[in-house]
Amino acid sequence: MFQGPGQAGILSVAEPSNADGHLLLKVRMVGLCGSDLNSFRGQNPLISYPRIPGHEIAATVVENFSKHSALAIGTDVAVSPYTDCGKCASCRRGRPNACQFNETMGVQRDGALTEYLVVPPERLYPAKLSLKELCLVEPLTVGFHAVARGRVTAEDIVAILGCGGVGLGAVAAASFRGAETISIDVDDDKLELARLAGGAHVIHGLRESVHERLLELTDGHGPDVVIEAVGRPETFRAAVEEVAFTGRVVYIGYAKQPVTYETRRFVQKELDVLGSRNAQPEDFRAVIGLLEARRFPVEETVSLTVALEEVPSMLRSWSDNPPQFKKIMVDLD
Ligand SMILES: [Zn+2]
Ligand SMILES: [Zn+2]
Repeated sequence: MFQGPGQAGILSVAEPSNADGHLLLKVRMVGLCGSDLNSFRGQNPLISYPRIPGHEIAATVVENFSKHSALAIGTDVAVSPYTDCGKCASCRRGRPNACQFNETMGVQRDGALTEYLVVPPERLYPAKLSLKELCLVEPLTVGFHAVARGRVTAEDIVAILGCGGVGLGAVAAASFRGAETISIDVDDDKLELARLAGGAHVIHGLRESVHERLLELTDGHGPDVVIEAVGRPETFRAAVEEVAFTGRVVYIGYAKQPVTYETRRFVQKELDVLGSRNAQPEDFRAVIGLLEARRFPVEETVSLTVALEEVPSMLRSWSDNPPQFKKIMVDLD
């Protein structure tokens, strides 16, 4: 439990009560990402304390109290950590991933780094996957959703700016749809992972001219789709500058400061500029399809697996040296 910024401890909490219509899950493994580190450090503006972290979840059904779910006891599932109110404009339009009142597990509500969870059946995704793979489902869905927002097809050349966890999911999703992908980052390890995830071309943003290389790889037109997964003003602008005329720009990165634009590019190129947030149920199913097809470098993505007891000290070393770790799994078995 995060008791406050920089403070993490292992505490005893009450067992969750068996809400009617829900399922009782035994948590098996939880993935931690940069947003958990931000929450630990007090740098996530949405979090309140005390808070149990954990939103990348592999679990097993222990009891089923739902009339609407046939999930058998013993079934392994990935869990969607989002909620939706059912009443806001997004929910009414069938886009609950962008619910105005969403509460993500581990952020606005307690998360999964605990022994048992009670969850409604619509947030469970059964799959014949390993525990590590189940934990990777949620982080990959974010990039998959961005690719869905960009209406990516096998005809497209897609450039992905930033190959961290989210960008890597976008590379995998676009490649899985048959598109030609160009992965751009300034970290060789991330570019190597992007290549393993199906990325056709990689560009190192410091060693090469991104602009020249993009023109070279696209017959001088620029990419049909550019996905921004960094969140910096330069990359927000580069997406609009580099994309082809009549192309699509998808933003998943969260800019921490205002961004100034040549807005005439929006008009001149007649661009579709799209935001992308969280993921839809079909994105969860698409990621499970990718992982079941063994089309993702699972072992290479996970840099460290620790036991629950080790999490507080691991968080302190992670916080002292963030680039040291990519994806961390907590084994609760
Ligand atoms: Zn995450
Ligand atoms: Zn809503």
